[in-house]
Amino acid sequence: MKKYQMYIGAEWKDPSSGEYIDSLNPFTGQPWARIPRGTNEDATAAVNAAYAAYDRGAWADMTPSARGALLRKLGDLIARDAEHLADVEVTDNGKLKAEMLGQMRYMPEWYYYFGGLADKVEGSTIPSDKPGMFNFTQYEPLGVVTIITPWNSPLLLASWKIAPALAAGNTVVVKPSEYTSASMLEFAKLVEEAGFPKGVFNVVTGYGAEVGSALVEHPKVARVAFTGGEPGGIAVYQAAARGLKRVSLELGGKSPNIVFADADIDNAVKGAVSGIFAATGQTCMAGSRLLLQDSIHDEFVEKLVALAGTAQMGNPMDMSTQVGPVTTQPQYQKVLSYIDIAKQEGATCVLGGKPATRPECGDGWFVEPTIFTGVRNDMRIAQEEVFGPVLSIIRFKDEEEAIAIANDVLYGLAAGVWTSDIGRALKMTKRIRAGTVWVNAYRVVSYMSPFGGYKRSGIGRENGQEMIKEYLQVKSIWINTNKEIANPFVLG
Ligand code: NAD
Repeated sequence: MKKYQMYIGAEWKDPSSGEYIDSLNPFTGQPWARIPRGTNEDATAAVNAAYAAYDRGAWADMTPSARGALLRKLGDLIARDAEHLADVEVTDNGKLKAEMLGQMRYMPEWYYYFGGLADKVEGSTIPSDKPGMFNFTQYEPLGVVTIITPWNSPLLLASWKIAPALAAGNTVVVKPSEYTSASMLEFAKLVEEAGFPKGVFNVVTGYGAEVGSALVEHPKVARVAFTGGEPGGIAVYQAAARGLKRVSLELGGKSPNIVFADADIDNAVKGAVSGIFAATGQTCMAGSRLLLQDSIHDEFVEKLVALAGTAQMGNPMDMSTQVGPVTTQPQYQKVLSYIDIAKQEGATCVLGGKPATRPECGDGWFVEPTIFTGVRNDMRIAQEEVFGPVLSIIRFKDEEEAIAIANDVLYGLAAGVWTSDIGRALKMTKRIRAGTVWVNAYRVVSYMSPFGGYKRSGIGRENGQEMIKEYLQVKSIWINTNKEIANPFVLG
């Protein structure tokens, strides 16, 4: 079994606890790697290394252009090793090789884009209202950024934070999910190869409540960037508040995917499948509530069941597999428990609704693609995030009812609208309370476009040009060119 070390202050370290966590392969249910169980002591060492690198030395003195060049070099190394990184992620989280390879081949763009932005953040010269005073601003890094990520897209979601944080001149300590830490430790080898100065990039692994909270609480940490579930997000927010730290939270969702009768139905069926069965439904932006207009409901459900019912399940490493296992055993139990809840609530199961026991699923944690019709929006299956391949179908009669149902939920991460009427499309994009709305598409993201949640889906945004400012602070600098100081007893 592969045994990993943590990356702290440009050195490969065993955990001070001497303890390891087994990382399990979701397709086999068997351990395949051992991950260091980091401690408070390890977290402190990593933050101290990161703080020293931020405060003085090679990184602190590096020009933004040189920082950008280093990030672009890292992007090239990721592109070179995309297949290896994808294989590690698939082994660790069970998501499809087809999806993870696509993510790894796309991921260099974050390092090219934010690397390019590093030397384009400009302060301004303020037209002074005070004679003889020259006033200008400059943007400066915040300091040490703690980055905490979940298990579903470990490297991509971390890169949404690492690339802008480093481009802005901060230093980082990354704490990946205890279920899927291997790929971040492989990634650290590329950071080392790229030649980042000592302490700029650190990885500490282990449990959230142990080492994750230590990395949030440490007084030398200036900002926390978190993606994960609501309980962890709230705990991080509270701890960050105690330390008066900046924080961004990317949390869960219960996103509506809304199909009007005037939509291209075949495309919308594919959009519904991509919304909930891609990534086995383990995506924060899953279109887990499918809202169908009355007049197309039955035809749509028939086509959807036909397409989803033929999805090929099995080994996620096989490029032809379409639905892989659930990533963790607790998550597998949670998905099955929500299927029971939906049945008890009176929803009608028209597809799946049970563990997948097909021979090609082996001993993995597989759940059959599951579709419920007859769901009311006040049911738990319509309100709570399942994070698995379970779709709730809700009927609506007109635009107003669709909007009311779409917004009647605590979350607001994303939404899909399927229609051929541009006026309706624009009205829906305005009225839906979500951070991202796709029209005639679902599950599209880019390094160039802001992503994040309304309501309980999170705080702050990631990606896009403006985001680099989330990792910077502005300083106002005054230079007195007068020969004499005016009255020292009053405000200047
Ligand atoms: P999780 O909250 O259990 O864990 C996420 C990370 O937080 C892990 O690294 C964990 O160790 C750490 N953590 C947990 N408690 C902590 C604490 N008290 N202090 C510090 N760190 C702590 O989430 P998960 O189960 O790994 O991921 C699934 C969740 O993530 C879902 O709710 C999903 O919607 C959400 N998610 C959101 C997005 C998004 O961009 N909005 C993307 C992917 C996943």
